[in-house]
Amino acid sequence: MITTELSNVGEIIQNQREVFQTGKTKDITFRIEQLKILKQAIIEHEQAIVEALQADLHKPEVETYITEISVVKEIDYVIKHLQNWSKPKKASVSWDFFSYSARIYPEPLGVVLIIGPWNYPFQLIISPLVGAIAAGNCAIIKPSEIASHTSDVIAKIITKHFDPAYIAVIEGGVEASQKLLAEKFDHIFFTGGTAVGKIVMAAAAKYLTPVTLELGGKSPCIVDTEINIEHTVRRITWGKFINAGQTCIAPDYLLVNKKIKKDLIDGLEKSLKEFYGNNPINSPDYARIISQKHFDRLVNFLKDGEVIIGGENQPSERYIAPTVIDNVSLEDSVMQEEIFGPILPIIEYTDIAEAIALITSRPKPLALYLFSQDKNLQKRVLQETSSGGVCINDTVMQVGVSSLPFGGVGDSGIGNYHGKASFDTFSHNKSVLQNSFWFDLKWRYAPYEGKLPLIKKLLG
Ligand code: NAD
Repeated sequence: MITTELSNVGEIIQNQREVFQTGKTKDITFRIEQLKILKQAIIEHEQAIVEALQADLHKPEVETYITEISVVKEIDYVIKHLQNWSKPKKASVSWDFFSYSARIYPEPLGVVLIIGPWNYPFQLIISPLVGAIAAGNCAIIKPSEIASHTSDVIAKIITKHFDPAYIAVIEGGVEASQKLLAEKFDHIFFTGGTAVGKIVMAAAAKYLTPVTLELGGKSPCIVDTEINIEHTVRRITWGKFINAGQTCIAPDYLLVNKKIKKDLIDGLEKSLKEFYGNNPINSPDYARIISQKHFDRLVNFLKDGEVIIGGENQPSERYIAPTVIDNVSLEDSVMQEEIFGPILPIIEYTDIAEAIALITSRPKPLALYLFSQDKNLQKRVLQETSSGGVCINDTVMQVGVSSLPFGGVGDSGIGNYHGKASFDTFSHNKSVLQNSFWFDLKWRYAPYEGKLPLIKKLLG
């Protein structure tokens, strides 16, 4: 095993605590140097990353660049802004605090734990790690065992370029994860499913460890009539079927205005052919399902409603064709569970109120998509629904904007990251108030006799 041994977890954490106590990781120059090392290491191992994702998910090289290796762009963004983010910020004080000055000092938390999922197994470990380094922490990372080739590459990169007393990798599955969760950390950053998110939060509660939970859910995609249909179908097809639908912010299901439903279905059929040809199993640009377990779960959804596009599957390759399903019932399992695969149910509505009512009756999603140029409709959907994020007239692209915090709300998660939000997630904002010795007003000191009218005036 390249990785640091699981049996030494306690010792690794202790070593990291000692390194953190030296103050070395707090130095801004050190942080920037480490981010540059990480960037360089990713670039050096590009080919190995591409091959690992090909082996794990049959991920096309272009998708690996767009969705995994693109994390280097995030590193550049963080390096550019880090000096400014880490400076103490002056805070205003009210007139009655005129002899005081107030400042907010961002300080690192200490030793943090990052646990990742299998669907974007490289990016979803490295991107939070960038935040942890930028904020001046030590970190232990636990990639997903299910994307085992990518987990190995991550371990190789990290152990080659970083001292485990600063950044360590623990490879392994549930057992490794639980062993780590039994320890005390200063922050736990978890990306994965809602059920495991609850286990992580329960473990963190034991030590009052703060958590960031990047979870999943069913992200709706509303399609109104006021659209450019050609652009709409391409953007939905891309966002839904990239990585064979195994994307936490993929449009889970469509809510389509009845008037445009037929055009939309025809358009989806056309764009699927344009992207993946007549038989997507032969396309080099279409990924596979990660495991037999997930394949079986997804094939089960094909029993729901009526398959109108796709539906073919090949168990030996864990292939499921891009599939569109009509006439589903809200009670069908495909409309109850997060799909997380290349199956797209369509539900029609006649009035937007129906679509909004359906969304608000369910747990708050990670993403909400709206295709419409109607400004009033945009405003109404934004006002009447709640979700981790929203993208209007496109899908998935919101994840690539470093200035937008990324995260869920309610069942789809707690906290957020990317860019400055990552720095904030892994920092504590220490409030510092300073008084001067010019004079000392006595109004707040005992004895209080006769001071109440003045205090009422001051507080009034
Ligand atoms: P998962 O919850 O099964 O696993 C995530 C991590 O938790 C893995 O490293 C795994 O080893 C560990 N784990 C699994 N069971 C555990 C247990 N009982 N105790 C402790 N640790 C355990 O998630 P997954 O299947 O890898 O990923 C799919 C889910 O992740 C989907 O729900 C998806 O929506 C969500 N997701 C969310 C985001 C986001 O950014 N919000 C991104 C990707 C995936």
